[in-house]
Amino acid sequence: MKLDTFKTALEAERNRLSTDMENMEQLDSSGPGGDPDAHAGEEATELLFREQDQGLLEGMERQLALVDAALARIENGAYGKCTACGCVIPTGRLEAIPYAPHCIPCAERMD
Ligand SMILES: [Zn+2]
Repeated sequence: MKLDTFKTALEAERNRLSTDMENMEQLDSSGPGGDPDAHAGEEATELLFREQDQGLLEGMERQLALVDAALARIENGAYGKCTACGCVIPTGRLEAIPYAPHCIPCAERMD
């Protein structure tokens, strides 16, 4: 297995995620903003966008945690094995999702 290839992919993914998250946090901290004359309907839309951002951010945090866990598994030699059943995760799956912690049957069982 080409561990270096997966490690590079994981590090790139981690950089991308942390950059995206920083950008989103900067957007969020840009102050209450909004036009004081905004209509109620527009405020509701704004709130909806914020909730969507929050959901997106949480999704990114979860993904970042998976990427970090995968990088840790590379370091301790456990990378490429399912963390649930211990079987070897097919290379094709890791190429598609380098941070996948589970083999396909386990992932399906958990969904
Ligand atoms: Zn498994």
